[in-house]
Amino acid sequence: MPETPEQREGTTDPRRRIPRTDLLLAHPQVERASKAMSERVVREIVRAAQARARTGAIDPEQVLDEILAAIGGRPAASLRPVLNATGVIVHTNLGRAPLSQAARRALQDAAGYTDVEFDLGTGARGRRGAGARAALLAACPEAEDALVVTNGAAALVLATTALAGTAEVLISRGELIEIGAGFRLPDLIASTGARIREVGTTNRTHLRDYTDALGPDTGCVLRIHTSNYRIVGFTSDVGVDELAGPCRTAGAPLVVDLGSGLLGPETRLPDEPDIAAALRDGADVVLASGDKLLGGPQAGILLGRADVIARLARHPLARAVRADKLALAALEATLTGPTPPVLESLRLDPDELRERTAQLAACLGGRLIEHEGRVGGGGGAEVPLPGWALALEAELADPLRTGEPAVVATVRDGACLLDLRCIPPADDGRLIAAVESARAALAAPASPDLSR
Ligand SMILES: *Cc1c(COP(=O)(O)O)cnc(C)c1O
Repeated sequence: MPETPEQREGTTDPRRRIPRTDLLLAHPQVERASKAMSERVVREIVRAAQARARTGAIDPEQVLDEILAAIGGRPAASLRPVLNATGVIVHTNLGRAPLSQAARRALQDAAGYTDVEFDLGTGARGRRGAGARAALLAACPEAEDALVVTNGAAALVLATTALAGTAEVLISRGELIEIGAGFRLPDLIASTGARIREVGTTNRTHLRDYTDALGPDTGCVLRIHTSNYRIVGFTSDVGVDELAGPCRTAGAPLVVDLGSGLLGPETRLPDEPDIAAALRDGADVVLASGDKLLGGPQAGILLGRADVIARLARHPLARAVRADKLALAALEATLTGPTPPVLESLRLDPDELRERTAQLAACLGGRLIEHEGRVGGGGGAEVPLPGWALALEAELADPLRTGEPAVVATVRDGACLLDLRCIPPADDGRLIAAVESARAALAAPASPDLSR
């Protein structure tokens, strides 16, 4: 049969040999590889490969391989796991607390249908998050009741909205803090419609500053733990124990926002207030985050007097800040499981860290140096945690960050510092491999980007 003009052209113009979209989508290998992917995403990948063949970046014969590689290398979500080699334990940019194995299993179990609000015994509706509540009360017997919401900021909004409404919230001037990225707690409180009444001064607030301000307009009194800065020098503030009596007399609930989520005293952070102590001292409700030193998922935790918690739970806003089943599951498992990773990292023995870091140095070279870890966000932020790091070539920081697994290190004084404090010992081998490939990437001549 004589060739048609198209067929003739096809032999000369390689673009004619680019496989058609429908054939590629129906290709058995593509179908098999893309089972966990939406059709829209597979189409995008197919089109991108065809486009690269049209521009001549790849041969038409490579289109299928390119598609299979793109499907295979694509994670289900864009959030990538990171090895945190910074030594900063609660790193908000890196997802705060890494979950314990117990919490990870609980997440998996709760991912499908689950009895989050259903009583399997009776078939009736159950109390949402009853397991997390019970675990919180067991971990903190000083509390009469507990409520879990989406995060610490939501807990603060719920408490001030439900307890103060449009009345006054009394706060010391020394506690009007910004907690990060321009986010100010006083703005958050004001956004609820409550009126902030500042008492005292920046460095000194006395009991009489509160008692002078307490009155019929008071909705609640709020103490905020200024976890990210300290006032030193000529200072004074008022203990929760001193405030509790006057608040009770005035009928104004005493709310204490601790942020950090330490359930009890922590030897490594002697100055960090804990939830149990605040409740013993007379706080009516204590607020904390789930993903700071508590070591669990993002959540806002409210612990305190039964009548106050009931008031908060009844408020319509409680529905808008309700915790999801995954957070409830992970929180319960964090509380009932072994010591969570954040506390392991906090309590790490410096000698053990030195030993591990020396082993890393034996594999990779570099210098063993003293390096202080930090708690980071939400509690004892600036308390130095004595430890060690491996100092390597500064140029490694970029390829480490963009490599697989991604490693986030600190660059200081012309060196790339790897601190093992927040890296589980089981991942030391992966870290070594990551440094080796980062070095290989630096040594290799610049190669064309094959990822697109
Ligand atoms: C971190 C923090 C918050 C906010 O909690 P999120 O869980 O980040 O919403 C509020 N108050 C204090 C004192 C904090 O430290």
